[in-house]
Amino acid sequence: MADCLFCKIAAGEIPSRQVFADDRFYAFEDINPQAPTHFLIVPRKHIPTLDDLSRDDGALVGDLVLLASKLAREKGLAESGYRLNINCKEGAGQTVLHLHAHILGGREFRWPPG
Ligand code: 5GP
Ligand code: ZN
Repeated sequence: MADCLFCKIAAGEIPSRQVFADDRFYAFEDINPQAPTHFLIVPRKHIPTLDDLSRDDGALVGDLVLLASKLAREKGLAESGYRLNINCKEGAGQTVLHLHAHILGGREFRWPPG
């Protein structure tokens, strides 16, 4: 989508610190990290929010979660644990309307998140 920040980052039109890339996903470090490890995974397909997913996106979402786990383990977070977070819409803190998963680790997290 022409005016989407994360579409542009995934396409390499805006610079980012890459964590992973393939034909369906792009992962990169968050510009404002909230933990020692904080990166984002976006599908290259422009999907604004979780509520815009269709049944056909099931494999995409499943593979996104599997990729999050793989990358978190590669970052050394398997033992300490980590958080996988998807904010859906403004009330939950979503500021960029292109579906993205946050992977955070390297510190302790509280529950409930607040
Ligand atoms: P949200 O609040 O929508 O769940 O998460 C958006 C995330 O994108 C935030 O954590 C924010 O720091 C990050 N972000 C916003 N703009 C940029 C950018 O230009 N580059 C990178 N690497 N991260 C960004
Ligand atoms: Zn987009």
